[in-house]
Amino acid sequence: MSRPDCIFCKIVRGELPATVVNRAEGFLAIEDINPKADVHVLVIPERHIDTFRDIGELSEGEAKRMLDFVAETAKAAGLEEYRLMIFCGAGAGQTVFHLHWHVLDGRFRGLPQ
Ligand code: AMP
Ligand code: ZN
Repeated sequence: MSRPDCIFCKIVRGELPATVVNRAEGFLAIEDINPKADVHVLVIPERHIDTFRDIGELSEGEAKRMLDFVAETAKAAGLEEYRLMIFCGAGAGQTVFHLHWHVLDGRFRGLPQ
């Protein structure tokens, strides 16, 4: 379900601008607005999911396609070696409560926050 006030749902709906770097059915990859590395992309499911704790809301097929899309997005960004991060919960640094993967090149400048 799409949430009216969620930043990433707004990007998915085209109501907020974003630099889209990759797309697949049900998933979007955008440039992070405050990059912590030369390459810092966010992979976002189009469907609103609050946190990684709720990953069970994806079907097995969707979860597999999401992982494939993360790998494809890193490759499309020119990365062979990279870091993947998910912050789960405010205490762990999550600030946008719509599931997303950080895809960062190996020279990242500290933890995103
Ligand atoms: P997290 O701390 O894991 O919730 O990460 C949220 C990330 O979203 C941060 O790295 C922010 O820089 C990024 N971000 C917030 N708003 C936007 C936006 N409108 N477009 C792109 N990235 C954003
Ligand atoms: Zn959302």
